[in-house]
Amino acid sequence: MDCLFCNIIKGKIPSHKIYEDEETYAFLDINPCSRGHTVVVPKKHYDSFTDMPTEDAGSLFATVKMLTGMLEDAMSADGSNVGLNNKAAAGQLVPHVHVHIIPRMNGDNGGS
Ligand code: 5GP
Ligand code: ZN
Repeated sequence: MDCLFCNIIKGKIPSHKIYEDEETYAFLDINPCSRGHTVVVPKKHYDSFTDMPTEDAGSLFATVKMLTGMLEDAMSADGSNVGLNNKAAAGQLVPHVHVHIIPRMNGDNGGS
């Protein structure tokens, strides 16, 4: 199966990598909502969040939590939007589970 995010994980498509461990991979979004907008994916392919075993969802969110704090510290951000679009009807464009971390500043305009 030809999956965009699987190809990014394998290095077949270049990405600005933020973090990688055995189970997860994180990279900057190509079309960021704010500076530092990061996408976190499991290395194992699942089309949607609800397809994932709970254990894998736990590893994914452990990385998400760690990186949210790291990005806020590194960028002196005041907070973050952390979110996931589950399935096409909810706006999921890439059918490989991913979580968005969008660093925010007090008084910013929501990234638009
Ligand atoms: P979704 O709408 O599926 O939740 O979000 C997909 C995200 O992936 C979008 O924010 C989009 O900008 C990002 N994206 C799509 N293609 C690429 C790519 O080739 N490289 C990177 N770094 N991000 C991508
Ligand atoms: Zn994939």
